[in-house]
Amino acid sequence: MIKDISSMLLPELEEYFVSIGERAFRARQVFLWLHSGTESFDGMTNIPETLREKLHRDFYIDVPSLLEKRVSEHDGTVKYLWGYGDGNSVESVVMEYEHGNSVCISTQAGCRMGCAFCASTIGGLARNLTASEMEAQVWYSQLDSGKKISNIVLMGIGEPLDNFDNVMRFLSIINHPSGMNIGMRHISLSTCGVIENIDKLAEYDIKLTLSVSLHAPDDETRSRLMPINSSSGVEKLVEACSNYFSKTGRRVTYEYAMIDGVNDTLRHAGLLASILRDTRSHLNIILLNNVPERPLRSSSPESVRAFTKFLDQQSVNFTVRRRLGGDIGASCGQLRRGFNKV
Ligand code: SAH
Repeated sequence: MIKDISSMLLPELEEYFVSIGERAFRARQVFLWLHSGTESFDGMTNIPETLREKLHRDFYIDVPSLLEKRVSEHDGTVKYLWGYGDGNSVESVVMEYEHGNSVCISTQAGCRMGCAFCASTIGGLARNLTASEMEAQVWYSQLDSGKKISNIVLMGIGEPLDNFDNVMRFLSIINHPSGMNIGMRHISLSTCGVIENIDKLAEYDIKLTLSVSLHAPDDETRSRLMPINSSSGVEKLVEACSNYFSKTGRRVTYEYAMIDGVNDTLRHAGLLASILRDTRSHLNIILLNNVPERPLRSSSPESVRAFTKFLDQQSVNFTVRRRLGGDIGASCGQLRRGFNKV
């Protein structure tokens, strides 16, 4: 079967070249071409033609098509819908910050986590994305927007820790000095809390930022919002995050979307403060973004004020995050694997 060459790691490419009786250094040449946007083997001018023919025979280069693009009138955020050969499509978002441009990429076409507030899980999981499909979102978003990407967040459609091997492969390629060379400290991975894979990630000890979608401090509320909580629970999740911090020295960021009448009372704030007190983590408070199919709504400004005032008094380390791309359905939880009605 012919293979997706851009998802291969450098040692794997070396192995291939040696296996067909070629020199190993060809691997680096091809790797450099692939990860600087070359879309066909014919463009690889330092590779002899006979060898290019072999590459044609054994591999393909996957290039997504741009199905749709929207630009926010408020903040310059750009949202893309990329299409793949099998009919699936995913969205990515380019955002401008003071510290540089970030791209938010999808890791799966759809999602099977079933969170009650999120648009990405409506319709379930179609399939995992490959490493090259993740990289292409970064590459082509940069190319089309003309904005140099310095940060990547794995916070688009899908659960990255439900597609662990492809995500690790992507990280290794995007971070490679002969690839886009984006430092791990400029990459954040967000999870709804797949505990065994948080533990596995900790073992790799790579310096990315782990974000955890917490959204509730107690099992009753969290299990109602996020089905994954029923099997593990908040306590085990926070324990896994503390373990991640001790192993890697990287502080975990907890995400908390404030939902009217669900997780925004002072009782919740109290529980939240008590579980985060000894964790040396950071808390990101966001307002729930609107998803038309979902009955949940964002907390009122008064509830947010009271909630954050309480956290302040308890010396919890938090920020209230700005909402970007609201007018084009590009905010957290609004991405979909198809055309967006917003
Ligand atoms: N599956 C991963 C990655 C998705 S990241 C995860 O759950 O973390 C998308 C982020 O947006 C997550 O923090 C998710 O909980 C949050 N989110 C989902 N729906 C939202 C909504 N309607 N409003 C605000 N944030 C939302």
